[in-house]
Amino acid sequence: MDKVLVTGGAGYIGSHACKALKAAGFIPVTFDSLVTGWRDAVKFGPFEEGDLQDRARLDEVFEKHQPIAVMHFAALSQVGESMVEPGLYWRHNVGGSLALIEAAVAADCKQFIFSSTCATYGDQDNVVLDESSPQYPINAYGASKRAIEDILRDFEAANDLKHVIFRYFNVAGADPEGEVGEFHQPETHLIPLMLDAIAGKRAALTVFGDDYDTPDGTCIRDYVHVCDLVDAHVLGLKWLQANKGSRVFNLGTGSGFSVREVLDHSRAVTNHVVPHEIGARRPGDCTKLVSGSFRAMEELGWKPKRSTLDKMISDAWRWHQNGHYSN
Ligand code: UDP
Repeated sequence: MDKVLVTGGAGYIGSHACKALKAAGFIPVTFDSLVTGWRDAVKFGPFEEGDLQDRARLDEVFEKHQPIAVMHFAALSQVGESMVEPGLYWRHNVGGSLALIEAAVAADCKQFIFSSTCATYGDQDNVVLDESSPQYPINAYGASKRAIEDILRDFEAANDLKHVIFRYFNVAGADPEGEVGEFHQPETHLIPLMLDAIAGKRAALTVFGDDYDTPDGTCIRDYVHVCDLVDAHVLGLKWLQANKGSRVFNLGTGSGFSVREVLDHSRAVTNHVVPHEIGARRPGDCTKLVSGSFRAMEELGWKPKRSTLDKMISDAWRWHQNGHYSN
């Protein structure tokens, strides 16, 4: 069976990707530093602990496992933190990715799938965000991801590194079978924080601003179920294996929900009111990020099956009540 190197395989999206890869007949080899990931989340293949900036360690892992492809999830991903500590984001995300790309090319592993983000587009109100939209990130997180996209293009030109870039919108939900789920420490994402507030693990959720130029004043995002998202990655791998060339795909559903709408759905799904208060805007937040493209559906044959707010919140809620990790 072919192996795929999954960086960040001990994290939220990476662990779901490992499960999907195993189901598709691959062996996922997790490479993770465990700085934000969890040993407990590595359930579907071998584990190699290491830091992306450690090139010698990367070379060792490529040599040992001979993966046919890389899925690169490992990254720091908090918009707010990136505004306060940009150096962390440039060093870890860009420096680590560059070492990984160089190690992959040196090992002749030339199929590369990269987790990018809609945060690379920045704040472009009333613009349909398709894959050719200009990228003007307004936070260091988005800027670091855009830089990695540029690096991949240069390595394709120089070394024929074929890549698929997925620009994620907002990922939510959990494995419906409950084997893996979302567990960040500290948690910064809307849906798990909301569930924490319902469960009494925090006093209240702070809504970051209700004076945005949206119908109810709160920010709008396009939420995708994590299992749908990782399905697209398996299709991306098959795309590369079929020699279809490098390509960028947005992964969003085209439906936007405001923070208030997410709060209302949560009450309906969990039968609990979410304790919340209105706070200040969070620096770096865009008003509205909704995908205006269905390229992944048209070209990869991607069919999001679980990306309704109800399904995402109910799967997250089930996991939230039983699941957690430790190292
Ligand atoms: N949000 C919020 N309170 C929180 C966390 C998030 O109001 O405690 C809002 C945030 O401003 C954004 C949306 O929820 O509009 C989604 O934020 P999240 O951090 O989950 O994802 P991001 O959009 O930053 O990738």
